[in-house]
Amino acid sequence: MPDCLFCKIANKQIPSEVVYEDDRVLAFKDSSPQAPVHILLIPKEHIASTTELGEKFSHVAKDLFAAVPKVASKFSLLPKGFRVVINQGPHAGQAVDHLHLHILGGRQMHWPPG
Ligand code: 5GP
Ligand code: ZN
Repeated sequence: MPDCLFCKIANKQIPSEVVYEDDRVLAFKDSSPQAPVHILLIPKEHIASTTELGEKFSHVAKDLFAAVPKVASKFSLLPKGFRVVINQGPHAGQAVDHLHLHILGGRQMHWPPG
């Protein structure tokens, strides 16, 4: 097991505000929210980034995207919409090397992102 912050959150070794959980994914509040709703959605299995999401891990992408509308609906984001972001690698500012989706909502988003 890598020494990984989000693995520790998934294992409940480090506390977080969990908003959705099933056998394979966990969603919790970002500790530094960038919008009124800012949730991180992770696979419980350690996968460093999208580049590790080969065919072997196709189920992971399915599990994550199946959970997105569940989380969004929990925060009443479906009518007005929301943004789903994956920061991949240094140019995107990926800070934690455990695959995670940001679910951002509750305000108008801007485009292009910074
Ligand atoms: P990244 O930049 O890798 O896409 O996003 C990492 C995210 O994890 C950031 O938005 C950051 O605020 C969040 N984060 C970092 N450490 C913790 C933590 O210990 N707990 C929680 N809930 N979020 C964290
Ligand atoms: Zn991990």
